[in-house]
Formats: sequence, structure tokens, C-alpha cells
Amino acid sequence: MDFELSEDLTILQDAAREFAAKELAPRAARSDADESWVGEQIGLCAEMGFLGMAIPEAYGGSELGPVGTSLVLMEITRACASTGTTLSVHNSLTSEAIVRFGTDEQKARYLPKLATGEMLGAYALSEAGSGSDAGALACKATPEGDDWVLDGTKLWISHGNKADLVVLFARTDPSAGSRGITAFLVETASEGYKAGKKERKMGLRGSPTVELQLDGVRVPGANLLGELNKGFGIALALLDGGRIGIASQAVGIADACLEASVKYAGEREQFGKPLGAFGAIQAKIADMATRVDGARLLTLRAASLKEKGRPYGREASMAKLDASRNANWCAKEAVQIHGGAGYTRDFPVERYFRDARVTEIYEGTTEIQKLVIARTYLR
Ligand SMILES: Cc1cc2nc3c(=O)[nH]c(=O)nc-3n(C[C@H](O)[C@H](O)[C@H](O)COP(=O)(O)OP(=O)(O)OC[C@H]3O[C@@H](n4cnc5c(N)ncnc54)[C@H](O)[C@@H]3O)c2cc1C
Repeated sequence: MDFELSEDLTILQDAAREFAAKELAPRAARSDADESWVGEQIGLCAEMGFLGMAIPEAYGGSELGPVGTSLVLMEITRACASTGTTLSVHNSLTSEAIVRFGTDEQKARYLPKLATGEMLGAYALSEAGSGSDAGALACKATPEGDDWVLDGTKLWISHGNKADLVVLFARTDPSAGSRGITAFLVETASEGYKAGKKERKMGLRGSPTVELQLDGVRVPGANLLGELNKGFGIALALLDGGRIGIASQAVGIADACLEASVKYAGEREQFGKPLGAFGAIQAKIADMATRVDGARLLTLRAASLKEKGRPYGREASMAKLDASRNANWCAKEAVQIHGGAGYTRDFPVERYFRDARVTEIYEGTTEIQKLVIARTYLR
């Protein structure tokens, strides 16, 4: 057992950290304050090859592998959580969907464009009536000649108003529950596709979360992803990988909280001493550092299992559960260490606190991760 990163991974981690500090961190507060889309940041990430992390080199991707991708997502999110979310969805839930389940023709058509950022990918599973119970979705796909016609409304879709291609799940058999769902590759330029209401969110304000309205969207039969009525299995398989992405994000936010807290504890003086001289503050720093490292190890374990082609669903859920809880804990303590300053927008910990919250909610809530983990022991 070896806890050291290889030389290549260390170089990648350093490059991602340097890039994020130089290009993303200075823009993060502005995107948050204006609720402006992180499109410019995504363009810069594309130049680094970070939009092709899940895509084989043969299709123009950077093919970083699950461990490399996780390390990059940690570093990107450490600087800007909105950019981290966009990258996680694009890589883990769209590109990877095509790599794993696409036909040769679908791969040739979409992967080179997704790898360069010419196309941005989104993932549309959730609806108003089906969140945790995703298998109850109602959006329907009706066959018409060689095509499918999609009708319905999706909710909570990350950058659904900016994406070019959406992996979208729709009901193809109304009587078969979760066994009547199929995955489709939907081009957002299609007639009848419309991005509706944009949510006004607590955090991740540079990542628009929107409703999608599908009004007779015609999708060619060639854009059915995987097999007919096997879409729910695809949705869950992708979420297993996506959870490593969210765990990585959560580690990034927690790490940013630790870094900001150490800095502030060294600078701010009370009672004639820096805050870091007080035992109570030292204890918080020690707890934060231990939680960051623990979450990072669980996350890299899940990524490493995935890289080796071994089962990783339970470990991905454990990583997501632990890392997201710890990100929230670290964000709370970081605000506390900053005192009143931490409650203002003058310090980034206020944003970290808001950005951390959603990591316990999306891609399966904390409660759902526990169900997933417990089932693997109790079945
Ligand atoms: C910022 C943001 C971005 C998102 N991006 C996307 C996206 O790109 N694509 C997409 O498809 N979806 C996306 N989502 C949706 C997200 O995945 C759902 O919000 C999430 O799955 C929870 O569903 P829900 O909001 O309907 O909550 P609900 O399912 O209504 O849950 C409400 C509460 O009940 C609990 N609960 C539910 N069922 C159980 C149970 N069986 N046992 C115990 N407790 C339970 C939950 O844990 C939660 O605490 C996004 C959400 C947000 C907030």
C-alpha cells in the first residue's frame, strides 16, 4: 500500500493548483456576487485539457483517469466551486456517459467536441416530482418513425441554459417504473428545447441551475444512449462516478477553509497574541486538517478502485458522505475562526460556507448515501 502520488500525478496536481490560484481564485468572488456564469473560467479550463479528463486521447481527450480527475477537481474547487461543479458534470456525467455507454458513431460525433469545450455537457435526471426517488420521473419519450419525441419538464439542471448537449432521462414505458426509463443525447439547439426559470441559490452562484422545458423535442433514434428501457441503470452508474466528483469538490472546499483559517489565525491578534496561539483555535485547525485528510483519502480510494476497474459504488458513496459533511463542518469552523469578519463578504469563508451546503444535497443527499451504503451491508 502506497499513499504517495506518482510523479505524473504530483505534476498534474501542482499544475492544477497553480492554474486555479492564478486564473480562477481572482474571478470567483465576482461570479458569486454577480451570479454571473463562469463561462470564461470554463474556457480557460478547456485550454488546460480539463474538459476532456474522461475522454480517451484517441478522441482528443486528456484521459487523466479517475485519480487524476479527482485531484484536478479538488484544486479547481478549492479556488472556485461553481467552476468545479461545471467541470464535474461535464466530465463525469456527460462525457463519461458517452465513453461508457455510447456507440462508436456517438463517440466519434460528440467526444472530440466535448474534449475541447466546443460542446458543453449537462445531465438531466431530476424533476419536480422526482428527486431522491429519481426512478419516478415523468418526462416522456414517444417513438415516431425513426425518432423519439420528448415532452416534459426537468428541474435543477446545472448549466442547462449554457450546455450544448444533455444526457437526458425520459420515460419510454409508462407501466414499468424504473425499468421503463431510457437515456437520450439531446442537442440543446433542437426545436422545442427551452431553458426556463433560473433558481436563485444560496451558493454556487456562478453555476446557473435551471428548469428545462421539452416541448415536442425530436431526437433521432441514433441518439438513444445505451439500450431501450435501461436508462435508470445508466443514471445510477454515472452517479457512482459523479459522487467521486462531488466528494472531490467537497475536499477542495474544506481545504480552502483550512488554508484561509490558518492564514487568518496567523494574522489576527487578540489579547496581544495571534489567534493561532490559543488552544481552542489550535484544536479547530487540528480537527479541520484531520477531516480534510480523511476525506481526501476516502475520495482517492474510491477513485483508485474505479481506475483499477474494481467495484467502487459503496466507496464513492462513503467518500461523498464523509467529504460533504466535513466540508460543511470545516466551513462552519472557518467562519467561527474569522469571527465577525467571517460573516462578511470581505473574506472568502462566507462564500465557502454557502458553497459547501449543496455538496450534502446534490447527486444523492446525505440520507440517500447512507441508504446506499447500508444496503451493501444488509442485503
Ligand atoms: C445546485 C443544484 C444543482 C443540481 N444539479 C442537477 C443536475 O445537473 N442534474 C440533475 O438531474 N439534478 C440536479 N440537481 C438535483 C439534485 O440531485 C436533487 O436536488 C437531489 O437529488 C435531492 O432531490 P430533491 O431536491 O427533490 O429532494 P427530496 O428528494 O425531496 O428530499 C428532501 C429530503 O428528504 C430526504 N429523503 C428523501 N427520500 C428519503 C428516504 N428514502 N429516506 C430518508 N430521507 C429521504 C432527503 O435526503 C432530503 O433531506 C441539483 C440540485 C441542486 C440544488
